[in-house]
Amino acid sequence: MITLIAEKCIGCVKCVKVCPFGVIVMKEKKAVIGDGCTLCGACETVCPVDAITIERVVKDIDLTHYSGVWVVAETEGAQRVKNVTLELLGKGRELAGLIGQSVSCILLGNNVAKFADALICHGADTVFIAESEALSRYTAEGFQPVVTGLIAQYAPCIVLFGATHAGRDLAPRVAASLGLGLTADCTGLSILDGLLLQTRPAFGGNIMADIICPYTRPQMATVRPNVMKMLQPDVNRQGTKVVVPVSIDASTFRVAIKEVRDSCQTGVMKIDEADIIVSGGRGVCTNGGFALLEELAGTLSGVVGCSRVAVDLGFRPKSVQVGQSGTTVSPKLYIAVGISGSIQHQVGMKSSDTIVAINKDPAAPIFQIADFGIVGDYREIVPAFVAEVKMNGGR
Ligand SMILES: Cc1cc2nc3c(=O)[nH]c(=O)nc-3n(C[C@H](O)[C@H](O)[C@H](O)COP(=O)(O)OP(=O)(O)OC[C@H]3O[C@@H](n4cnc5c(N)ncnc54)[C@H](O)[C@@H]3O)c2cc1C
Repeated sequence: MITLIAEKCIGCVKCVKVCPFGVIVMKEKKAVIGDGCTLCGACETVCPVDAITIERVVKDIDLTHYSGVWVVAETEGAQRVKNVTLELLGKGRELAGLIGQSVSCILLGNNVAKFADALICHGADTVFIAESEALSRYTAEGFQPVVTGLIAQYAPCIVLFGATHAGRDLAPRVAASLGLGLTADCTGLSILDGLLLQTRPAFGGNIMADIICPYTRPQMATVRPNVMKMLQPDVNRQGTKVVVPVSIDASTFRVAIKEVRDSCQTGVMKIDEADIIVSGGRGVCTNGGFALLEELAGTLSGVVGCSRVAVDLGFRPKSVQVGQSGTTVSPKLYIAVGISGSIQHQVGMKSSDTIVAINKDPAAPIFQIADFGIVGDYREIVPAFVAEVKMNGGR
């Protein structure tokens, strides 16, 4: 329930400006909240005199009227939908099938409505489209009230976000605004007794914890890119597009983004998008080991990744670290060289299609998940590998 204490209101109109759904108006120099309020909380946050309060009842609620699996889409501006969104739609379809519900997607941005068909082809039944120039790039103040408002209005049962930089910022804000829990960085999602079973590494990755959320709705989780498999697009799928009218004034945001810098080297493929990754660990951190891996990656048209040790020792940048506290990858071919295969490393690469391990220790755990294992010194094996690939014309 939302309450506006008229005696406290000073008529500053800040709440009118930030309401993304345009339901607050001024009457006799006092703000008045109209019927279409979604309880998104944007007005409560900006009110300088605490004249607006929102009370959300989270106990003893009727959970049965919450229905639908929702995915909050992420785009690269107006250029493309991020793969993680399509992966979540694939998982969303599976979960929705198990509980007999539908899949919806929230698509926010500027000039992004063109992506709605692709989202439907990849599994969405309904796409909610909210467009505004103020949503051109992700900002917490622009996105959170719209997502919160839609969830409050339509009451989905499950909401999934990508565990990306934006998703990790947005999801907890939405969860907090609705008084809900959130399981971050899930590596597995399934249904148990009608509840969302959210699996994620815990205690430094040494155990996998299964988390359920029996008392509140929606059940919310973030999921890392490259963990779930996207569905093959079905161009014959039909879905509904719902245009959500929003009016967002970016000049009211407390934070202005002046510049976005990509920390990855220009022209170099990002590790989470590469088909082939040659990754090095402590075992190659001497005698120019990474130069050999660069050569192998070059002949295979792949990129070089690494374990955390290689980052900690200053051999590679953090942006190419694979694993629990780095990036999750799922390439066609992952070649692990001089990497023991700790649980924290495995969690970031074990869904690769084919894993090749090169290690001088036959007992290294990496061999337990490798499709092909080569026991030996990488200084002998990698040059032989490069020569063989070159002889066959490279890739
Ligand atoms: C909370 C937390 C988060 C973490 N996140 C990550 C993460 O995201 N990514 C990550 O990788 N780690 C992560 N770690 C660290 C992780 O626990 C391991 O310490 C790390 O993965 C080990 O890296 P490594 O395999 O390169 O080194 P090591 O475990 O030291 O293994 C080196 C391997 O190289 C082999 N070797 C040595 N010389 C040669 C040679 N000449 N030829 C062939 N093989 C050789 C050895 O046999 C050995 O198996 C995390 C740890 C914690 C606690």
